Amino acid sequence: MSVRKIGVLTSGGDAPGMNAAIHAVVKSAIARGIDVFGVYRGYSGLIRGDVRILKSRDVSDIIQRGGTILYSARCLELKTDEGVRKAKEVCDKNDIDGLIVIGGDGSFRGARVLSMAGISCVCLPGTIDNDISCTDYTIGYDTAINTAVTMIDRLCDTTASHDRCSVVEVMGRNAGYIALNAGISCSASYIVVPEHPFNKQDLFERIRFAMKRGKNHFIVMVAEGIGNVTELAREIEESTGVESRATILGHVQRGGSPTVRDRVAGARLGYFAVKLLSDGAKNRVLGLNKDEIVDFDITEALEMTKKFPEDLYNMASELSR
Ligand code: ADP
Repeated sequence: MSVRKIGVLTSGGDAPGMNAAIHAVVKSAIARGIDVFGVYRGYSGLIRGDVRILKSRDVSDIIQRGGTILYSARCLELKTDEGVRKAKEVCDKNDIDGLIVIGGDGSFRGARVLSMAGISCVCLPGTIDNDISCTDYTIGYDTAINTAVTMIDRLCDTTASHDRCSVVEVMGRNAGYIALNAGISCSASYIVVPEHPFNKQDLFERIRFAMKRGKNHFIVMVAEGIGNVTELAREIEESTGVESRATILGHVQRGGSPTVRDRVAGARLGYFAVKLLSDGAKNRVLGLNKDEIVDFDITEALEMTKKFPEDLYNMASELSR
């Protein structure tokens, strides 16, 4: 049976470049004679039937915009049989043959449940955290890391002017990719990531050692979830004598116009997702590995683990001495 109508939704945390993916989905579907429903606010909108056909004009001038024009949401109801039944009903009522889901691991789990209920799903990795195992790269990561580095550069100026130490918390959920790469890019004195045990005494010792060699300002990069950075700044000050302040970059890292890398990644993945869905795929996740588009069964993708770049971490550790 040929695919005539599909839906597209964004779910979980938003990420710059999601609009580029939506743009590509709509344009390539229309080119194939497929109608596309925009599903608003993720799975909540699907369950409530908040869907609307998207025309070419609806996606013009969105590629450069951060966030997602379809809005995003978290939806507990999809974890219930009743929620899945309602989602299926909405798809049946609108003759939606398949769904393209742009989001993270959680959203893929939701798509797997829907696939089991008979809705063909193809998922795209969209998250600023780059923490999805089946792919080297996730839509939004490049923009987020560049935003973080721009902000930290500013922080560095004032940190240096006052001979201070800035403890900077960046996002990443349970992964240290943003912290590691932002840390390297800002020449941080120390990088704390969840993938490695954190030894506070080692951090204090590093700062004292650098001070002996004439360094008088420091950036300590910390991935979220490691602990209280305000408390850590206080401990650094107490232990080393360097005036220390904490800065939590927070949600600013999610916003902004996507970089070229995120626009192109969104476009490629969105385009490929439509092709896959129209070829009859069900229950798949796409990835970008070694710059090639790959696809996996959702269960297989969720069971994969991602290797933290140890060599990069070790390099950062050496360069920060
Ligand atoms: P992300 O996609 O960024 O990882 P979440 O973990 O918040 O974000 O998941 C997004 C949504 O996916 C949830 O709000 C829920 O609707 C759906 N979801 C997550 N896990 C499941 C699950 N086990 N079963 C059904 N739906 C799920």
